[in-house]
Amino acid sequence: MPFIQLLFRNRLAAMGAVVLTVILLLVLLTPLLPLPDPDVTATADRFQTPFSPGHLLGTDHLGRDQLSRLLHGTRLSLAVGIAAAAIAGFVGSAIGIIAGYFGGRVDNMIMRGVDMLMAFPYILLALAIVAALGPGLMNALIAVAAVNVPFFARNIRGITVGLAEREFIDAARLAGMGHTRIILSELLPNVLPVIIIAMSTTVGWMILETAGLSFLGLGSQPPQADLGSMLGEARSALISHPFTSVVPGVMIFLIVMSINLLGDGVRDALDPRLRSGALSRPRATTLVQRNDPVPAATEDLLAIQDLQTQFHAGNRVYKAVGGVSLSVSPGECLGLIGESGSGKSVTALSVMGLVASPPGVITGGAVRFRGDDLIGAPYETLRRKRGDRVAYIFQDPLATLHPLYTVGDQLIEAIQSHHAVSRSAARDKAIRLFKAVRIPNAESRVGNYPHEMSGGMRQRVGIAMALANDPDVIIADEPTTALDVTVQAQILALLDDLRRDRGLAIIFITHDFGVVGQLCDRVAVMYAGRIVEQGPTQSVLETPAHPYTKRLIACVPELGRGRRELAAIPGLPPSVEALPPGCAFAPRCTKAQDDCRSGQIALTGSYPRAVRCLHPEEAIG
Ligand code: ADP
Ligand code: MG
Repeated sequence: MPFIQLLFRNRLAAMGAVVLTVILLLVLLTPLLPLPDPDVTATADRFQTPFSPGHLLGTDHLGRDQLSRLLHGTRLSLAVGIAAAAIAGFVGSAIGIIAGYFGGRVDNMIMRGVDMLMAFPYILLALAIVAALGPGLMNALIAVAAVNVPFFARNIRGITVGLAEREFIDAARLAGMGHTRIILSELLPNVLPVIIIAMSTTVGWMILETAGLSFLGLGSQPPQADLGSMLGEARSALISHPFTSVVPGVMIFLIVMSINLLGDGVRDALDPRLRSGALSRPRATTLVQRNDPVPAATEDLLAIQDLQTQFHAGNRVYKAVGGVSLSVSPGECLGLIGESGSGKSVTALSVMGLVASPPGVITGGAVRFRGDDLIGAPYETLRRKRGDRVAYIFQDPLATLHPLYTVGDQLIEAIQSHHAVSRSAARDKAIRLFKAVRIPNAESRVGNYPHEMSGGMRQRVGIAMALANDPDVIIADEPTTALDVTVQAQILALLDDLRRDRGLAIIFITHDFGVVGQLCDRVAVMYAGRIVEQGPTQSVLETPAHPYTKRLIACVPELGRGRRELAAIPGLPPSVEALPPGCAFAPRCTKAQDDCRSGQIALTGSYPRAVRCLHPEEAIG
């Protein structure tokens, strides 16, 4: 989405932009407006109230026209504030980049100097500088710029240090570039957005500081008006003629507010993470917009019925899941297999309303747990079932475990969030769970932090957390993809035991047919957001009907079968933004014919075996 559109979606930023534009236009046009001279005194007309003839905003203690003084004063204050921000931004960033880029002793010396400046209260420092240089608007500008240099230097140094260690800087060095060239062409473009954002959020602050110095009589000198000196001169008439203070006061308020609101808006709009979605946090559950009637309830423990989940980003619609139906019964393991990007994770996350919205929207179908539809269920209902009746195991346990709490504490939290049990009872249960997932020395292991455990152990903790509340269904999203094969085999054996002992239903997501063969009773093959084939594992493995399934199975290497041609599926999965009509696999399929490229192709066959193909490899019964 274009920057401006994104910026104006933020109402407050838009308001700030409008107010600031009006003020800027007014002060730019000030010399052209038919205003009286701001510095001409007329003591006979002292303290005229606003709206008196010839003086829209009244006059001050010397009879000078307030409107004229206000506009000229605002012009000056804005110019000084912006100039100070530009100087502080330039000098501070230069210091920060040099310190961060060269590091070591240079960094140490520069930053200790900056720290010394920072150790003084800044208004005191500004006062000291003006006292040394003598009062005057130019000196106030220098003082305000100087006291803000450390802010920029510290910020930009921090960012530069992170960038200076990156490989592209090393590459530039290897290419023989000099320091100046690296700083200007490699580093600067990366820190420039930060500098601009820091400036836009500090201009308001610098205008205030300049006004403060002028208020104390150290900035602009009479008769020249700026907002601070207008306030200072009005101070003696504060009680008798309050409007003389209100006029410049309101202007300062408007300028600083509008600059800050706009600055915040600019910062948010430049954040690339906000570009794809909206300027809002994800909702607690996925947004549901269903038009079609909801499929009727079934007997299954968990049934996904014609689920459709899309991502709406601007005008684009990504049909990540386009009508998926799956079901599991207690003690059963269903494999969900497909290439990366086929919509497996989105299907899994839709079950408990965990797809981030925006941009995720569930546009059709139902997910029934013991007959109750979970799609569109109130947040509280879903929250009570999340992790309690339906639990998830994710791919990367290091990313899902909190690095600063012991694994035992995290497990205890998982138990206590659904059951009102004492901490010691929860701890006992945590130890029992650790034993159940075969973590050796469970009693001492509960005190470990995630980084103290190996990948396989961490994934066991992940499984223990999923088991914490004796769920009925576990959805495992590629739980062994990050592990090496021996650990993978242990984890698979563990899951297999657990489902037999506890009657767990497991939906096991993977991209590896080898894994499916070891663990799953039934398997569903997913391609471009749809199920293209499903059936009992044995039958699908032995007689794959869909050409895609056959190619996927051929990708599994077999040990001891000598050398054979390594199979790969040519081409890439289609983008779910623009799916072709007919079979989504047709462009990559060697058996595709003309009829494959039009219309909707239905899933045919009788439960449990079905295939979505007009020219299957094998006829199925
Ligand atoms: P996988 O089968 O590898 O788990 P996913 O379910 O994660 O695949 O993704 C399915 C499709 O949804 C992909 O094509 C992906 O590009 C798309 N997708 C996922 N998240 C988003 C998002 N936030 N915005 C747009 N598209 C998304
Ligand atoms: Mg995935």
